[in-house]
Amino acid sequence: LIQLYAPLNFLGFAYREIKQGLVDMEAMFRLLSVEREVADPPGAKPLVVTAGEVRFENVRFSYRPDRGILDGVSFTVPAGRTVAIVGPSGAGKSTISRLLFRFYDPQEGRVLIDGQDIRTVTQASVRAAIGIVPQDTVLFNETIAYNIRYGRIDATDAEVEEAARLARIHDFVMSLPERYATRVGERGLKLSGGEKQRVAIARTILKNPPILLFDEATSALDSRTERQIQANLRELSRNRTTIVIAHRLSTVVDADEILVLESGKIVERGRHDALLAKDGLYAAMWRRQAKEHDKTAEASAEAAE
Ligand code: ADP
Ligand code: MG
Repeated sequence: LIQLYAPLNFLGFAYREIKQGLVDMEAMFRLLSVEREVADPPGAKPLVVTAGEVRFENVRFSYRPDRGILDGVSFTVPAGRTVAIVGPSGAGKSTISRLLFRFYDPQEGRVLIDGQDIRTVTQASVRAAIGIVPQDTVLFNETIAYNIRYGRIDATDAEVEEAARLARIHDFVMSLPERYATRVGERGLKLSGGEKQRVAIARTILKNPPILLFDEATSALDSRTERQIQANLRELSRNRTTIVIAHRLSTVVDADEILVLESGKIVERGRHDALLAKDGLYAAMWRRQAKEHDKTAEASAEAAE
């Protein structure tokens, strides 16, 4: 999460750049102010991650007493598997990620990592176990090396480079005028969305968390960038417990389980094919997105003519 906090420093001039990112930052601001309410119990021990299983047990949650947000949510992400959460805007998807990160505690039910209620262990250890890859990464006005090393500040140059190789950004970096010493960000070299995300992935590789959390932005990406980003994320999530909050359903077809959330309840769950066959909410969302996708493709084909 450090990745998300630090950019708050330059929110001012990053403002125009980040659009959807800003929405997430505003959410982070709110989270920062409530964070103090969630404290470590006295003598809390660090979380012990053995396999990386994530479990929500009958979780009820509301931000304010008069309005329930999650209404008895239960699911398990077995170690190393991928669960996708989809559903209409406002359904409570991002709230699930905030609870996993322990920005808030549920009013009822439990959130467990490898069988440990995350309320009973230190917050720092919970957050250290989870890597977040935002879709709209905001880079520091610093060198590429600095931006990658942010994942683990004691990493050596060799480790930074290895992470960059794994994130498939090394060759690109080597083509820059000052290689790893090239300054990027608003006042330096501007990177594309896909390149920025690779930097974020390199950071996450350095951090090496057993659990990954992706909360997709709603903003439209061109389809080439979208494909690149999805390939990046698939690679990173192999063998790591992964929760994807997805707006584009093309992201979720390979998930081990898809949860369809509506008004704080899981109303459908299963794999992509089974949910299509069920012809319910998921199938309707899928058809709608396919139609929108065709329209976008038509529009860009026309523009190209
Ligand atoms: P989703 O990610 O599915 O779009 P969220 O989990 O972000 O939905 O939000 C679920 C509901 O909770 C929304 O109605 C939203 O307005 C409300 N909400 C989100 N954050 C807060 C907050 N900090 N205080 C009060 N209500 C909030
Ligand atoms: Mg959301």
